Amino acid sequence: MSLLHVQHLSKTFGGVAALDDVSFELPAGQMLALIGPNGAGKSTCFNLINGQLRPDAGAVLLAGKDIAGMPARHIWQRGVARTFQVSAAFGSMTVLENVQAALLSHRRQLWRWWRPAASCLRDEAMALLEQVGMAAQARRACGVLAYGDIKRVELAMALSNAPRLLLMDEPTAGMAPRERQQLMALTRRLVSERGLSVLFTEHSMDVVFAFADRIIVLARGQLIAQGEPESVRRDARVREAYFGS
Ligand code: ADP
Ligand code: MG
Repeated sequence: MSLLHVQHLSKTFGGVAALDDVSFELPAGQMLALIGPNGAGKSTCFNLINGQLRPDAGAVLLAGKDIAGMPARHIWQRGVARTFQVSAAFGSMTVLENVQAALLSHRRQLWRWWRPAASCLRDEAMALLEQVGMAAQARRACGVLAYGDIKRVELAMALSNAPRLLLMDEPTAGMAPRERQQLMALTRRLVSERGLSVLFTEHSMDVVFAFADRIIVLARGQLIAQGEPESVRRDARVREAYFGS
């Protein structure tokens, strides 16, 4: 059984079909790329999966259980994480404190005991930082980090709930090509080490073809192709709709 099974998912905004009867599966332990031109419906699809939006129709099965329309925090508790933006407000906090705060955020009963709880979560936070290669920078303020390093901290924060499914909406936007490759190589390593499944969107076709196990192509809310990278690359409709040739 697939970890994620999206079935006939639809969402309209004021008469515009942002997502129109879209179905696909993501087996456990795979990286699935969702691609398509701007406005294709990629972010809407993410928002429907993690509960930020309710679908008009369709189902989102997570390990067989329909989570469509559930409150976002319930979906998060079921093991669906999304890469955080480390907001400017946390720029003055250290890398370690940001990850500790993420760990605390889903252990609400500990909030009152911030100090003792934060210190007992230090080892857990450091372990996550080790995994994303940021342990050496744990004491630095997030606000002074390089962009690619902030993205690694975001990844550690997303992993703080030990997710089964990680959603990454344009994780490498604004990055230099080498940083893109590094972040996605790290993600790929986490997929194999933790048995994680990843759904990601990405504009760089180099990154998509290098890291995706399978690709789904959306155009104007509809799924126009899906398959392994080589077959998608050859698909005539994809070339026309997406690559313009
Ligand atoms: P993508 O992420 O592929 O660029 P989106 O999912 O953001 O595409 O958008 C798909 C379509 O839905 C676009 O036409 C967009 O304008 C529209 N849309 C997305 N979110 C909203 C919203 N909250 N309200 C109204 N229209 C929206
Ligand atoms: Mg988008």
